[in-house]
Amino acid sequence: MAKQKEAIAYSVKDHPIVCPICQHDKFWSGRAQLNTSAATLFGFDWLNKEVDTLTCDSCGYVLWFDESPGS
Ligand SMILES: [Zn+2]
Repeated sequence: MAKQKEAIAYSVKDHPIVCPICQHDKFWSGRAQLNTSAATLFGFDWLNKEVDTLTCDSCGYVLWFDESPGS
């Protein structure tokens, strides 16, 4: 995913994404690794995956997505 210069609006399946905390509609995209040593230790390797994240430009709340949100 390309580095953004500014926060932009996203939508998922034609639903505009709005921050559940402050109702802002501009976000920064990113990736998060769910890998934890505890997950591997207990055999929960399905937790060792990456998710797409959108960080609210206004309040910093992070939304997590299993698939890349559209823009
Ligand atoms: Zn917000």
